[in-house]
Amino acid sequence: QAKAMGGNTYSYFTNEMNLVMKRRFEVEEQLHGALARNEFEVYFQPQFDTNTQQLIGAEALLRWHSSHLGPISPVEFIPIAEHTGLIIPIGEFVIKQSLHFLANWQQEKQQNFTISVNLSPRQFRDPQLINFLKQAINQSAVDPQSVVLEITEGVLINGEAYIRQAFAEMSKLGVKLAMDDFGTGYSSLNYLRQYPFKELKIDRSFIDGITSNSSDRDLVKATIAMSHSLALRVVAEGVESIEQLHLLQELGCDLVQGYYFSQPLPKNQLLNYSANNQ
Ligand code: C2E
Ligand code: MG
Ligand code: MG
Ligand code: MG
Repeated sequence: QAKAMGGNTYSYFTNEMNLVMKRRFEVEEQLHGALARNEFEVYFQPQFDTNTQQLIGAEALLRWHSSHLGPISPVEFIPIAEHTGLIIPIGEFVIKQSLHFLANWQQEKQQNFTISVNLSPRQFRDPQLINFLKQAINQSAVDPQSVVLEITEGVLINGEAYIRQAFAEMSKLGVKLAMDDFGTGYSSLNYLRQYPFKELKIDRSFIDGITSNSSDRDLVKATIAMSHSLALRVVAEGVESIEQLHLLQELGCDLVQGYYFSQPLPKNQLLNYSANNQ
């Protein structure tokens, strides 16, 4: 698009707009062709049973290596994909890749392995989502019970009736919903009360402080107790040290994921990881 606007575009951006806007424009421009150019890869971060430290599942995390701009973090490109609507085809790519990976893993390694996929607000509101999930689950022949969809409270802000219906259709399909980044928003508790989540992921910012800060530790302890009383499974994100792991064992956290165990990995590396750690 910049080219079509002619030679003044560049100076327009440098003179009239700040660097943030220029970067955003470039990222958006590259994002349009990224799927067709095969620039995306789904990585998987392993998740473990806190007590046994057995590998029990993985979270799908998208990676983009732009041929023009180099590697770009999802923190940067997901909001742009969301804003432009490109998140729909990109998200479908992530779902397909994740289910394909899950099908292979369940056949060859562990029947009860789970896969978690992040959904942004626009994906969750997409009227085609349920059908797409249904088809993708049928085609890959995975057990829908092994599929977890992670949403943040941003997804839940408007449209209670629609959300309720979406939850109902998803539980009919057999997939589970997780509340991601718990504790970072304002209404997480209210949403937990309103909707039938099956899993709660405690945000990394709370896990960071649990070994050094007693109020973080108390908050995590209370969150785990509350989750269990609501029959929710609890996942701690961003576990980076053995001290954090030991504390989370004491507090009864169900699952852990984080750099202490592994970064998100390409699928072949996750296969190797599991071969070397089981
Ligand atoms: P998230 O779903 O909360 O994912 C967790 C983020 O924490 C990931 O960042 C992961 O790489 C990072 N992380 C995991 N363990 C540790 C740790 O021990 N220490 C630290 N410092 N970081 C850790 P990532 O991959 O950059 O993704 C960022 C966010 O982008 C995700 O947050 C999610 O909201 C979004 N995202 C990523 N992939 C997708 C996708 O396929 N679809 C959608 N809609 N959103 C995605
Ligand atoms: Mg997540
Ligand atoms: Mg998270
Ligand atoms: Mg997070």
